[in-house]
Amino acid sequence: MMAEEMTKIICITCPMGCTLEVTHEGKTITKVDGYECKKGLEYAEAELTDPRRMVPSTVKVKGGVHPLVPVCTAAPIPKPLIFDLLAELRKVELQAPVQIGQVVFGDAFGTGVDVLATRNLPAA
Ligand code: SF4
Repeated sequence: MMAEEMTKIICITCPMGCTLEVTHEGKTITKVDGYECKKGLEYAEAELTDPRRMVPSTVKVKGGVHPLVPVCTAAPIPKPLIFDLLAELRKVELQAPVQIGQVVFGDAFGTGVDVLATRNLPAA
């Protein structure tokens, strides 16, 4: 049987930033303290079983008024994929003009999450 342990997690669901004290055996939660609302419980569960993050970055643009355009995932992706996603985004080179909301890298690693441009970038 796995030993019970306590992990402190900051809930990032809202600006309150509650510190959750999550008691768990492996990925099975037995107790959560420190949350102000039930979204904190959902966040604790997600963090232990399938932690995800939004990933902001930039990609290269040819022929634009700037050499880079900011991009972001359209939804949070599993944390273990972040490093690989950043490596893939470094290889992308778009042609200006770039429209806000344009898909820069579609269906990242089969997650169904697209990476989108977050700014318009006109051609030079
Ligand atoms: S537990 Fe609720 S109040 Fe606290 S940070 Fe999370 S969402 Fe906000």
